Amino acid sequence: MKCPRCDSDKARIMTKSPVGGAWEVYVCNHCCYSWRSTENIQISEIFKLNDEKIANMGMLPPIPPLKK
Ligand SMILES: [Zn+2]
Repeated sequence: MKCPRCDSDKARIMTKSPVGGAWEVYVCNHCCYSWRSTENIQISEIFKLNDEKIANMGMLPPIPPLKK
């Protein structure tokens, strides 16, 4: 299964509908994006991720250094 955000094939099923298998929730192991099988996902280009963007992603807000 392919992740709609980073196009990796590391997506897997995270959970399923408790009633009647109406839907499944998938999650991408690569960029943590998750979505429901019933959604029609359209990710605009600016929110798309690739390996380079994930590697350069900063923490927001930055984690302050531990006080000693
Ligand atoms: Zn992804």
